[in-house]
Amino acid sequence: MEMKKLFVKGHPTFSYEIFPPKKTSNFDDIHTTIKGLKELEPSFISCTYGAGGNPADTSTIDICRIMKEQYDIPPIAHITCVNNTRADIDRIIELLKDADVDNVLALRGDKNDKVPPKDDFHYASELIAYMKEKAPWIHISAACYPETHPDSENAVSDILHLKEKEDCGAEHFISQLFFDNEDFYSFREKVLIAGMKSPIEAGIMPVTSKTGILRMVSICGASVPKKLARILNRYESDPVALQDACINYAIDQINDLIANDVDGIHLYSMNKPDISARIYGAVKNLL
Ligand code: FAD
Repeated sequence: MEMKKLFVKGHPTFSYEIFPPKKTSNFDDIHTTIKGLKELEPSFISCTYGAGGNPADTSTIDICRIMKEQYDIPPIAHITCVNNTRADIDRIIELLKDADVDNVLALRGDKNDKVPPKDDFHYASELIAYMKEKAPWIHISAACYPETHPDSENAVSDILHLKEKEDCGAEHFISQLFFDNEDFYSFREKVLIAGMKSPIEAGIMPVTSKTGILRMVSICGASVPKKLARILNRYESDPVALQDACINYAIDQINDLIANDVDGIHLYSMNKPDISARIYGAVKNLL
């Protein structure tokens, strides 16, 4: 799937992220998730790549194959490089070819204290360049950070490194979750000033619990605006009300993004198609 063909001005894409089931849970659960999301007319569904980047874990590619073969949904396989050698990536390319999956979200991956990084790749741009050389048939997407990646020296160097990813062959970007659209708009301006041209989908995470979101933002560095903090505080002991209020928050964010000509929305589904359905149902006529 050539990513640029998906993006038509005035008609934002609507895509979803899922993750492979945990080793302890039933693999068949993923079918329930995919079936639920298929009803929501996904532009594509991306599948994350395991924590720690264990190269022996093929579940991401297996799930992408299932989405393509059994559900006719365009898949994107996330692949990280910090814990993979060139030989590991060569093997992953063979698996992608065998599964007929030609879209990858190429990532560095988070450094994990328990898994010493391998030396072959240090940044996502190196993975992108390597995959483009080894497998030019793969269409590459990459990650971007409206509030700046937490490891960055500063916002300027982060944008310049983002541009490197485009220069190496990334043709589409998906943003980290954010809760204040103004952060996304100011990031989008900087990206345009840097001369980038690829479509950027806005990553939207529907919050489902206060502790869950606080853990998530502590890892990814996203900030919680006062408006969302008030909702989390008011409803923390009422899970049903919290969920309703946070779904409304996500819908409100998406309404505003669409009114501001966003290229697309990427919903972090958390494998909860019922929540995605409420959000998609509220905005589908705006797309
Ligand atoms: P990079 O683009 O390599 O950037 C990492 C940092 O290095 C940035 O601060 C950047 O500014 C800096 N940098 C880049 N190039 C250079 C250079 N040449 N010199 C100096 N500094 C440089 N993680 C997973 O483990 N599995 C997943 O499936 C997964 N999916 C994700 C999906 C999305 C949409 C997003 C936003 C993140 C995802 N992550 C995932 C998390 C991601 O792996 C981390 O955010 C990771 O820390 C950075 O990955 P990256 O590809 O953005 O890194």
